[in-house]
Amino acid sequence: MALMRTYFVAVLLAAALAAEDGDITVYQTEDQAVRECFPSADAFGSEAIRLDDAARGRVAERAGRKVYEREVLVRSAWKGDALLGYAVVSEDLGCYKPITYLVATDAAGRVLEIRILVYRESRGGEVARKRFRAQFEGKSLGDPIRQDRDITNVSGATTSVRAITDGVRKVLAVLQEAYLARGALPARPLVAAVAPQPPAAGPVRRARVLMGTTLEITAFGPDAAEAIGAAMDEVARLESILSHFRDDSELSRAVVAAVKGPVPIGDDLFACLFACERFWRASEGAFDPTVAPLVEAWGFKGGTGRMPTDGDLASALALVGFGHVHLDAERRTLAIDRDGVRLDLGAIGKGYAVDRAVDVLRARGIATALVNFSGNMRAIGTPTGTDGWPVLLRHPRDPEGSLGVVFLRDRAISTSGDYEKSFEVGGKRYHHILDPRTGRPSETACAATVLAPTATDADALSTTLCVLGPDRGREVGSSMAGVQALIVAETSPGGDLRFVGTAKVLSDLHVGESCGAIDGAEG
Ligand code: ADP
Ligand code: MG
Repeated sequence: MALMRTYFVAVLLAAALAAEDGDITVYQTEDQAVRECFPSADAFGSEAIRLDDAARGRVAERAGRKVYEREVLVRSAWKGDALLGYAVVSEDLGCYKPITYLVATDAAGRVLEIRILVYRESRGGEVARKRFRAQFEGKSLGDPIRQDRDITNVSGATTSVRAITDGVRKVLAVLQEAYLARGALPARPLVAAVAPQPPAAGPVRRARVLMGTTLEITAFGPDAAEAIGAAMDEVARLESILSHFRDDSELSRAVVAAVKGPVPIGDDLFACLFACERFWRASEGAFDPTVAPLVEAWGFKGGTGRMPTDGDLASALALVGFGHVHLDAERRTLAIDRDGVRLDLGAIGKGYAVDRAVDVLRARGIATALVNFSGNMRAIGTPTGTDGWPVLLRHPRDPEGSLGVVFLRDRAISTSGDYEKSFEVGGKRYHHILDPRTGRPSETACAATVLAPTATDADALSTTLCVLGPDRGREVGSSMAGVQALIVAETSPGGDLRFVGTAKVLSDLHVGESCGAIDGAEG
């Protein structure tokens, strides 16, 4: 049996609230689901179907939706010489996170079963219930499969229902394109494979809640499972060093001690703070981890935000300024010259952790992997036959829309947006990316996406460019080697969007109709 491969649509996005990120439900593995959908099968085959632009166009037309996949892995189930049917695992964006699901059909392309494999949202999980899934049984591409008319909506799960409904049509259209329309049959597997394949054959994917959010790692290779485990342990170790949520972290203890004079700190904490200093300087203070007291005043430390009083703001602002933080590269010490200064590595720590996870994977011989830490992603290589790991960029003003797909390969990507954590007062939205100079949520951009050689840089810069906005952000972004960026800003409060970015990112994005004109600049 050929290697089992899934087509990945990793989603870069909105890690809404930390608590929500913990809700990841793995229902079944692909293998289990396929075998249960075809209990009488004695052999399973699999074929990667390449979709060139023309094929993708035909699939999109048949499915009545956009299709980003360039390759789809189709499994076939056999009993003797008889083809029992097909199974395709796909991922589509729910409200904030991708839903991984399997569509099994009979040999004529009629739906036998839908199975949810991984569900990552806190709401909308009703789509995993049998009663919802059963509505698709017997449907084929010839049937209209319309949300609300043919497929009953589930209140509170509209987005997930749409993702699955559109997704089923997509899968049926792919089968039509690959086999049914031309009367072709998939290759019959040479060897009957009744027993499940060892997991080493396909990608291994694991998720773990760390630093208050979900770390998801996908890797190929015989030792992928162990390597992923080691990479996750490394991130857990870093959490105990970099967390400002824990009083016993190295960061928290060092900040208290450093007020009395220089204290030695470990390599990871030093490297992370050193990177902070670099971005603080390059951004002329727009990036500044000493915003910690401001983040608390605005209620964003572990919360969803609240309006601070003027007094709270003034006293917090008095403690802001990375100029109070002194790093000695030779002695590896930290000193802080003002009592009350605190550090929040929320805008860089996840990126730093992703880089160290990548180091661990590489050291263990992994050549193909994607580390996704709540939208801070870095890719090692790309799955065979693909141009890169597809990363869907969320539309900053339409939670159900996207700006298109970027293909990631041996690079990192990160997006910061004003929609991630925010609250509203009097019709005005206040969010968690603060301008350290005013003490208030920045108003110059609604989102910034950065591609960079390392995840540390991508994470720090995406936050920085959000604060700087398109005009200053363009200058700072283009002065950094190997960086590509997209900054999205409103032309007026609540008004049209303006897109400023490096040429490559702009040309890679299939920007949707609702996104307005692209106002690009070389970077
Ligand atoms: P997220 O962590 O939500 O993915 P970011 O990487 O953009 O998003 O980091 C935002 C976090 O960084 C905030 O929640 C806050 O803790 C911290 N922060 C806010 N404003 C700044 C800033 N100007 N410079 C550095 N850190 C900031
Ligand atoms: Mg960041």
